[in-house]
Amino acid sequence: MIPYGRQDIRQKDIDAVVDVLTSDFLTQGPAGPRFERSVTDHVGAKGGVAVNSATSALHIACAALGLEEGGLLWTTPNTFVASANCGRYLGANVDFVDIDPKTYNMCPEALAEKLADAERANQLPDIVIPVHMCGQSADMTRIGELAKQYGFKVVEDASHAIGGKWDGEWIGKAVNSDIVVFSFHPVKIVTTAEGGMCLSEDQALLDRMSRLRTHGITRDEDLMTHASDGPWYYQQIELGWNYRITDMQAALGVTQMDRLDEYVERRNALAQRYDEALKGLALDTPYRDPRAYSAFHLYIIQLHDPSIQRDAFTALRERDIGVNLHYIPVHLQPYYRNLGFKDGDFPNAEAYYKRAISIPLFPTMTDAQQDEVIAALRDIVG
Ligand SMILES: *Cc1c(COP(=O)(O)O)cnc(C)c1O
Repeated sequence: MIPYGRQDIRQKDIDAVVDVLTSDFLTQGPAGPRFERSVTDHVGAKGGVAVNSATSALHIACAALGLEEGGLLWTTPNTFVASANCGRYLGANVDFVDIDPKTYNMCPEALAEKLADAERANQLPDIVIPVHMCGQSADMTRIGELAKQYGFKVVEDASHAIGGKWDGEWIGKAVNSDIVVFSFHPVKIVTTAEGGMCLSEDQALLDRMSRLRTHGITRDEDLMTHASDGPWYYQQIELGWNYRITDMQAALGVTQMDRLDEYVERRNALAQRYDEALKGLALDTPYRDPRAYSAFHLYIIQLHDPSIQRDAFTALRERDIGVNLHYIPVHLQPYYRNLGFKDGDFPNAEAYYKRAISIPLFPTMTDAQQDEVIAALRDIVG
């Protein structure tokens, strides 16, 4: 089976993890901060807080920004459920902004219109979470302008996008947002098995997120209600969680980060090759926003004829091509339907869902494997 995505583990990664296993610290040792620096140095961010998943990262990002019971979070329906669930964990309401059918990302015009309506109804969101679908940035310039105009916070769900750029800046430096979140799940660009990170340019937010990662506990005397009882002393000053990453995972992240640029270059080269080879078939290849450099986490085609989607999936999988679908519109999940969402609420995301297929793309994919995928698509889609 040629999978749609796959990690690349080399001897250097294995050695780094094994070294941690025989060291003094399996968690809360030196590897965590080292991993944070390897990411923040690469993208030019002020700081980063490494955690055990992007889901946890989204949760503490929203908590640090003050989202609470009765608050309001908006995201795109074309994402993994975690981008919406983070609001629900905090008791906030969640709503969606439809996608631009060209970019598959949150549509900035739809966002502007929804904000104007929300302002009239006095129901503006507290936080908006755009997702950089496939690794291509959403229009962060426009979203950043709207955030200033309407006064909401922005968390970029950049789970797909480490190694990509927007308007010449690495994704991860929160230029038009408050916090950027990365995922290090094995199908993503670089991996720690499970892992995530919150990056910010705001030291107060970084401090708060690092506290929320560890139960809301501080050892900073300035934040305590009274002078320290002694060198053992800490205080829990708010409610947090245990969202720490282990040193084994962080050490793996450091050696993976050494190959980030190589991975993204290879992903782009493979994407270019798909673009050319799939020209003339009854499908659309991904639109390239000239302001973005995509990390190409995913390569998604859209069939011209939605009625062949199910059969094409079956036929491709029968030929051992591990196709997938990103994403089932979040508002159509039973959990969200129970909150009142229904078919037709976000027509662009729903139309996209009926035509999309994620085809294999990963840095160790060979040209021969890619040729197999291309040949199968020629036969099956035509
Ligand atoms: C993978 C992913 C997540 C969740 O990442 P985990 O690290 O598995 O928690 C969230 N949002 C998007 C868009 C993702 O692709």
